[in-house]
Amino acid sequence: MVDSRLILVVEDNEQNLELVEFLLEDAGMRVRVAQDADTARAQLGEEVPDVILMDMQLPGTDGLTLVKEIRARAETARVPVIALTAHAMRGDRERFLAGGCDAYIPKPINAVTFVDEIVAVLNQVSGRAGRTSSPR
Ligand code: MN
Repeated sequence: MVDSRLILVVEDNEQNLELVEFLLEDAGMRVRVAQDADTARAQLGEEVPDVILMDMQLPGTDGLTLVKEIRARAETARVPVIALTAHAMRGDRERFLAGGCDAYIPKPINAVTFVDEIVAVLNQVSGRAGRTSSPR
């Protein structure tokens, strides 16, 4: 599969970051990485990605706060955000979706299905965008 879309991965865990980067680049995607909110903000200021993969547990500013900033900024308001989290607590998924995320992928990452999950979200989101003009 060749997919040259740009994905910003915000993840503080080095091991997860390396795995995700490897899988996405192997699928042909362009990957930018950030290990904290400040770096993510800087990356977003330079180039608006096609999709953001957001770890919800970050040092300092957490993922949900960062998603709210992304939604509040005109340039990034409509960029799909996929929440990534080790939390398996009841209600987390709903909380992240209500907080502005478009989808949710639980950790640990399944290396076999991960890229397909990302692509499925992108297809779903672009389909939705084509059907409605209402703001999120
Ligand atoms: Mn984390």
